[in-house]
Amino acid sequence: MPQAAHYAESHLMDLLASFGMDVPYVRAERNTLFYRDGDGAEVPVLDLVGGFGSLILGHNPPEIRARVQELLDTQAPVHIQLSRNDTADQVGQLLNKIIQREFPDTEDYRIVYGNSGAEAVEIALKHAELDRLMRVSELFQALDWNASQALAAVKDGRATLPDDPSALPDGIQLPTDAVEFERLLGELTAHNAALAAQSPVYFALEGGFHGKLVGSVQVSHSPAVRVPFAALGFEAVFVPPNRLDVLQHLVDEKRATALDVTVTDGRVRVVTRDFPVFGGFLLEPVQGEGGIHVLPEDLLSGLKLICEGAGCPVVVDEIQTGMGRTGAFLAASHHGFPPDYLLLGKSLGGGVAKVSATLIRSSRYRPVFDLMHSSTFAKDGFSTEIALSTLRLLEADDGRVYRLARERGARITDALRGVAADFPDVLREIRGTGLLIGVEFAPRNDSPSTTIREKSRGGLLSFLSAGYLLRAHGVRVVPTGSDLNVLRIEPSVHISDQEIAQLEAGVRDLCLILRNGDARPLIEA
Ligand code: PMP
Repeated sequence: MPQAAHYAESHLMDLLASFGMDVPYVRAERNTLFYRDGDGAEVPVLDLVGGFGSLILGHNPPEIRARVQELLDTQAPVHIQLSRNDTADQVGQLLNKIIQREFPDTEDYRIVYGNSGAEAVEIALKHAELDRLMRVSELFQALDWNASQALAAVKDGRATLPDDPSALPDGIQLPTDAVEFERLLGELTAHNAALAAQSPVYFALEGGFHGKLVGSVQVSHSPAVRVPFAALGFEAVFVPPNRLDVLQHLVDEKRATALDVTVTDGRVRVVTRDFPVFGGFLLEPVQGEGGIHVLPEDLLSGLKLICEGAGCPVVVDEIQTGMGRTGAFLAASHHGFPPDYLLLGKSLGGGVAKVSATLIRSSRYRPVFDLMHSSTFAKDGFSTEIALSTLRLLEADDGRVYRLARERGARITDALRGVAADFPDVLREIRGTGLLIGVEFAPRNDSPSTTIREKSRGGLLSFLSAGYLLRAHGVRVVPTGSDLNVLRIEPSVHISDQEIAQLEAGVRDLCLILRNGDARPLIEA
């Protein structure tokens, strides 16, 4: 059958075609994709893109396939909004058991379901903002109550007027009588109301990625994806990952104080209260799309301390790093960092379902949020069943999947570091953790080959390289989202020694071609 015109992503399809990457795959199993050759025979390709990290158990895991078949055969309900979904709670229960193991003595987390990773981020942002506004409202209620108590006490002579101006901003005077005291209270209320009208502060890390929906894109650092849509959202504050001093400085600069009055020992005092200006801090323990950067341990512990001091909830986005990929269920557990919000997606759907989860500490959770956020497809019968089966598979055999992620990851990293040692001029660094590995290529802007030089200058050398690895070595890789010099290696835990050797041979061959500066093999393959 002739190929139909591209109605979907035709521009992208043309780009992929120019690198020979527009392959129509017909079947997928574990780490292998198959396409058909001219005679209709299946040709295998080693897939190291791993669904951008959604395939920790590989393509079509047999246990998940069996569960899918069973659900269809038994006509299990899928769309059952506004009814009881016990499986959704069982997933929550199992997730909490796992979290308790990785972070002993942590309180329970509530779970809000979404359909994609970016949606989990949107849910976290929405909840964090609702929580912030409710904290503001609780603070204002307390301030109103304190003001009315102080006024009553001044009017009937039980308390003297405030005489310490140290908490007062410029322009607000101390009162000389009860009438003036009422005027002062009005000025304090106006000061506090002005704080509430200010934009909230959401922090994220430079190099971080959290999705491409209207809210989540505001906290995704890459200007290429964010800036065109900046006018649609709030402005996040980006912090360099290695600069806790900058974070502390920003927190001090943006901190806001509300004004309150207290009555103690028959005396009214004007005092300051922290105003909830900080909505949240979003981060990935290993930055994935930003080029596979493992955050330093001291950064996370330092960041936690600063955020706690500022009353700023920490949102850890484990959409790419979670579900065992780094050798533990959560990458944050390597850092002993139980967050306020925890986001899961990708592999939670076992490679077949679209499901994400926003986990929120119980003590933070605002029950009214249940009535303020929903989606037709979220928390559906199918995806919650598949998420439960997936979690059980991860937990089976005392965490065999996590051990495999560590062991297989180390083996791949060692193999690639061996190549990098032989080609230090071509490969800058092999980095990552578990099965989240980045291979950074040095740009070749001065290559004697025009093709290599131009592709490198245009930021497309990685696509040229990926096309070559696919055609010449049957190895499928793609660069990370915002650092195109980095090829990501994100296979399932089932990757074999033979497949690792296939990757190693391909990368070695590619390095030789790039070093020689002769593009012919890249184009002719
Ligand atoms: N957060 C992180 C850390 C991610 O890696 C991604 C996707 N690469 C997302 C959020 C967005 O997930 P999705 O593509 O499912 O919307």
